[in-house]
Amino acid sequence: MKTQPYHIVRNSKIHGKGVFAKRPIRKGVKVIEYTGDIISVKEADKIGVQQDDQGHSHTMLFTVDDKRVINGNTGGDAKFINHGCDPNCEAVQYGDKVFIESLRAIPQGQELTYDYHLVVDGKITEDVKKEYACFCGSPVCRGTQIDAKIVAKSEKKQAKKKAKKAKAESKKLREKAKQAAQKAKKKLKKKGKKDKKK
Ligand SMILES: [Zn+2]
Repeated sequence: MKTQPYHIVRNSKIHGKGVFAKRPIRKGVKVIEYTGDIISVKEADKIGVQQDDQGHSHTMLFTVDDKRVINGNTGGDAKFINHGCDPNCEAVQYGDKVFIESLRAIPQGQELTYDYHLVVDGKITEDVKKEYACFCGSPVCRGTQIDAKIVAKSEKKQAKKKAKKAKAESKKLREKAKQAAQKAKKKLKKKGKKDKKK
């Protein structure tokens, strides 16, 4: 007897197509396997990310380790699962296999999401964050699909830079104020001399 699938693919409010619970799902269930050909990181780089007309990037690649990537383009429905910042599922790896498992009980009809923990090379600028923007709509949405730790690290770095710049600027301002005060003092002295002469 074949078990009924847990999921159904429909248009999503988050983005494009999404995957929804076809029936109630208990916590800790392997909802769907992330399938597709296993390719090398090099091959995956060639496929890259697809950009839609709004400049948002889609990735249908799942990084297994630093050598292997599952090419979702050649696989089943799991590639349609959207990223969520407060997800109801997570991707769990068992050797070469990856399953999307429920993190909590999911009512019928709810969209399935998991945190992509997207890794992006280079500087995480506002533009890069926008390119991988998240529309999950959760109150805790971090606005991007890029991994929270990477975003936090880059924000810390940028804040440090900003603080350094602000410090230098305030030093400049203080020096300027000091110079202005000295000038005013000199003026006062001159004025004082003039007053004495009177
Ligand atoms: Zn989000």
